[in-house]
Amino acid sequence: MEKEEWIKLSLPCKSGNEMKWIEEAYRDDWFVPLGPNVDEFEKRLQTFLGTDRPVVALSAGTAAIHLGLVMLGVGKGDEVICQSMTFSASANPICYQGAQPVFVDSEPTTYNMSPDLLVEAIESRMKETGRKPKAIVIVDLYGMPAQLERIREIADHYEIPLLEDSAEAMGSEYKGRKCGLWGDYGILSFNGNKMITTSGGGALICPDKEAAARVKFLATQARENRPYYYHEVIGYNYRLSNISAGIGCGQMETIDQRIGRRREIHGLYESALSGKCGIEVQNNPSADYNSNFWLTTIRLDRTCRMTPDELRIKLAEQKIETRLLWRPMHMQPVFANAPYYGSNVGEDLFDRGLCLPSGSSLRDDQIERVINEIRKLI
Ligand SMILES: *Cc1c(COP(=O)(O)O)cnc(C)c1O
Repeated sequence: MEKEEWIKLSLPCKSGNEMKWIEEAYRDDWFVPLGPNVDEFEKRLQTFLGTDRPVVALSAGTAAIHLGLVMLGVGKGDEVICQSMTFSASANPICYQGAQPVFVDSEPTTYNMSPDLLVEAIESRMKETGRKPKAIVIVDLYGMPAQLERIREIADHYEIPLLEDSAEAMGSEYKGRKCGLWGDYGILSFNGNKMITTSGGGALICPDKEAAARVKFLATQARENRPYYYHEVIGYNYRLSNISAGIGCGQMETIDQRIGRRREIHGLYESALSGKCGIEVQNNPSADYNSNFWLTTIRLDRTCRMTPDELRIKLAEQKIETRLLWRPMHMQPVFANAPYYGSNVGEDLFDRGLCLPSGSSLRDDQIERVINEIRKLI
């Protein structure tokens, strides 16, 4: 009976109070970038993360990565190590700064950067170029934390700053500490399909108040404090609008339920599909990990009758949207010349993985329908 209704991968989910925040801004003529909703949204994010570190709301997660790299002093001729298995937005800002990305392969359990390969890449780059990489960009892909403690130790050992791309990992934890707090800088995304949305937005988690003030300055065109427009450095127009931040405040009212629901959906897939017919559902590797399961992903092993893409096409015929895993950056034509450290872990994940519908607005009967279709096909 529900054949007509598309089951989508990850749709935004309303708390019901977003309009209240927008209307207040409208009533008080706060139609501007910045304003009271932005301050309130930043406060709510900080409370949610359980940190004293300042959080700066920006126009996109990509803008947050870019400003994070600017703050770390990344510039022309520098090399920046970046997880290969990720969305291109993790790597593009490295190029905005005229720096060179160096890609590192993943380990198969978390899909995130292999700490051993990170060490290999740092050592090799230092030998080859005589300089240390300027920064490391680590990602918590699909909400699963990377091996953050080891990565942090390696970064500290070599004294290379760490930027944690937690665009997909809002609410995830590693060893009880929230994702986004493990790097010198951390970022979140509030794009339409992420854990919460501001209809487009992001945040940069800063190390301290001075850094946050500098980020706000750079994000508003780097205007020096003078009666006329006066600029000593290049600025950006990267702040979040007060209207968008209002949506974010409304969304924050139900963030815990949203995360709870994504985890519940993962649990339904896990118990119905894991270990069946060559399907493996990605799960927390140990009690140290607590993924938000932004997207539940499965891997199909060689005994499976179908490839992920064949399964994707068959499910689409049943109006079920799935998506192949991120194609690693070292396999992208645009990054063909970037150095790469690793073997074929990311490539293999890309060949065998599929993301299942995981949005927190999905009902149990819709998840059942996905499970039944997959079982039928496989
Ligand atoms: C979505 C995403 C980003 C970019 O965030 P935007 O808000 O869309 O700019 C960066 N990194 C990863 C891993 C993402 O999934």
